[in-house]
Amino acid sequence: MDNSEHETAHGNVEHAMLGSHWPEIDLDTLRAKFYQLYIAVEQSPAATAITDTEGHIEYVNQRFLEVTGYSREELIGKTPAMIQSGMTPDEVYRDLWQTLRSGKVWRGELQNRKKSGELYWEAETITPVRDDTGRIVRFVAVKEDITERKRQEEELRLLASVFQTGQATLITDPEMRIERVNQAFTDITGYLPEDVIGQTPRLFKSGRHDKRFYARLWDTVLGTGHWQGEIWNRNKYGDIYPLWQSITAVYDQAGKIRNFIAVFHNIAERKRLEEELEQQATRDHLTGAYNRRAFDEAMRRAIGQAERNNNTFTLLLFDIDCFKSVNDQHGHDTGDAILKRLASLASQTLRSTDLMARWGGEEFAILLQDSSTQGASVFAERLRQQVAETRLQGLAITISLGIAEYRHGDDPDTLLARADGALYRAKRAGRNRVGSADSPA
Ligand code: GH3
Ligand code: MG
Ligand code: MG
Repeated sequence: MDNSEHETAHGNVEHAMLGSHWPEIDLDTLRAKFYQLYIAVEQSPAATAITDTEGHIEYVNQRFLEVTGYSREELIGKTPAMIQSGMTPDEVYRDLWQTLRSGKVWRGELQNRKKSGELYWEAETITPVRDDTGRIVRFVAVKEDITERKRQEEELRLLASVFQTGQATLITDPEMRIERVNQAFTDITGYLPEDVIGQTPRLFKSGRHDKRFYARLWDTVLGTGHWQGEIWNRNKYGDIYPLWQSITAVYDQAGKIRNFIAVFHNIAERKRLEEELEQQATRDHLTGAYNRRAFDEAMRRAIGQAERNNNTFTLLLFDIDCFKSVNDQHGHDTGDAILKRLASLASQTLRSTDLMARWGGEEFAILLQDSSTQGASVFAERLRQQVAETRLQGLAITISLGIAEYRHGDDPDTLLARADGALYRAKRAGRNRVGSADSPA
């Protein structure tokens, strides 16, 4: 390297001027001092290299060998181009040489490549060393491995970009204390960052899930690092709402959990639509009772259950008496209103396991779980009486009913045919009464 460029650098405190500080000591002391310094550099945890002014390596310490994977023989006499990755922009090297040639210390971050091909990041300080006359005679490079710091910076950048998306995000420490939340979190939950930071997500518990639900959730997170599913939470105003949530554990290099990240969005609207679709598929529009398809399915299930458990159930059909004349006298709209009122009245008498469907125009079917003819007769008689005693749209309406108990070997059609026969007999016997397939009325 040309030494004509740095007459000005004499006063620079950042370069080593051995000449002016060289102590007056004898050779043995000097040798001992030298050895001390040598050992200190050789065993330093910072990778260190000394090059001549052309950049040829004269010395590397032990740490340098460990970091790069090269042997001393492979490095001495070569230039640091050997460990260049090709990933560092040319401007960085231009700036490096310009700085060093002007006699200043260069500091910067370089991405280099080990002998194995692996990339790593170093923070380097390269210092020009001068002789007595101020001439630059070599460079000393001290490097610190910052690969892990770079990785964490990269991860944080990634996290920050995820943080800006529309998904509500919450980050906790390993003890599940909330460290950060984003704007979407506040939008969904109503909680501001200052409301929740330092708290745990228990704050959001809705009471909708039992202990086992949360135990399973955390078992999964801790076992696999991840959980996702539907969960009901409570917002700042006390409302309970469904979320689709994913929880991810973030580990440090030692495999210990560093953070939990929960990402979620409100699925109340989606659930409402799902329920609406489900409703449309299984319910009768006018009365809200189940439709025939849903009832068929329920009947098949009930038959399977009765066969497995060796028990029984009863099918009940009922039909409004002389409904045609109601329509004729009061109009179709009144007829419709009566159908609605009747369906709602009948559904109030049902147990949670029973199921009612609108079977035809003004004919309904009820499946009474675990009921024999005897129990069903009592139920049917009470329903008949209740309808007869209640004025629907101001009119006295009566119904006729037919019941049939499931018998081993029945299919839905044979069972229906028996119930229909019983209903027919009730009509023929004068209406406003219960007919039974098993004890003809
Ligand atoms: P009964 O059952 O006592 O023998 O006499 P009914 O007059 O009720 O005879 P049926 O059950 O055969 O008559 C069905 C009548 O119900 C025909 C129609 O006018 C009426 N109906 C059927 N579906 C609807 C409906 O959705 N809305 C209205 N308003 N009326 C309906
Ligand atoms: Mg009728
Ligand atoms: Mg009818």
